[in-house]
Amino acid sequence: MTRIVAGNWKMHHGPPGAADFFSRFVPRVDSIPVRLVFFTPDVALAASIASARVPAEFGVQNIHWEAAGALTGETSAEMAREAGATLALIGHSERRHVFGETDAEVNRKVLAAVRAGLTPVVCVGELLEERRAGRLEEVLRGQVGAFVGSLTGDREFMVAYEPVWAIGTGETATPADAAEAHGIVRKALGELGHAPILYGGSVKPGNAASLMSAHDVDGVLVGGASLDPDVFAGIVEATPSARS
Ligand code: PEP
Repeated sequence: MTRIVAGNWKMHHGPPGAADFFSRFVPRVDSIPVRLVFFTPDVALAASIASARVPAEFGVQNIHWEAAGALTGETSAEMAREAGATLALIGHSERRHVFGETDAEVNRKVLAAVRAGLTPVVCVGELLEERRAGRLEEVLRGQVGAFVGSLTGDREFMVAYEPVWAIGTGETATPADAAEAHGIVRKALGELGHAPILYGGSVKPGNAASLMSAHDVDGVLVGGASLDPDVFAGIVEATPSARS
């Protein structure tokens, strides 16, 4: 399986910033065999698609589960699709822990993404206190169990395992931590356990290769280190080119 390197720009890079990013990123990664994905701010999606000039896929960072309505500030999966997105990040830890998104809402968003023909990339991950309390498996099984019944084998989806304590903190799970958690997620997916599982949490050029070489890790979801084209290109360059 070609490894997946996905960037989550969060609330960074408007249209000019996106164009500038790709003007510097493209010459660095032209012929590297990875599946590149960018989750851009909605307002930078069109500029990103127009200026990418490398094979890449684009997604939004959040969707609402309704197709349309009096929901000021929200974007539906259908609208994201019309704007050129082919994927949607769902249940990112910032959505769960800053905006209070619940497992039930995550599931509604997964259903909406599938309905609109977007590939859901569903984020799961434990808090530090949950890990310390020995609840890793319980938490991951609960988060996966909340949405897996809404998926079928004929529609692509991905899961991103992102331990909350490692997101934007500089703390990274070890490859062994990632392999353990990915194994739990794969088991919890049951017959859909073939889905790609990405690791996310302070991935950098220096740790990307070892994390992506860990068992059951099919790629990475990168936040902070995806903002700088040279740093993100360093992660792409560090990607083991073929699955072990
Ligand atoms: C993320 O936002 O999905 C993420 C993993 O962030 P960071 O790489 O900055 O930890």
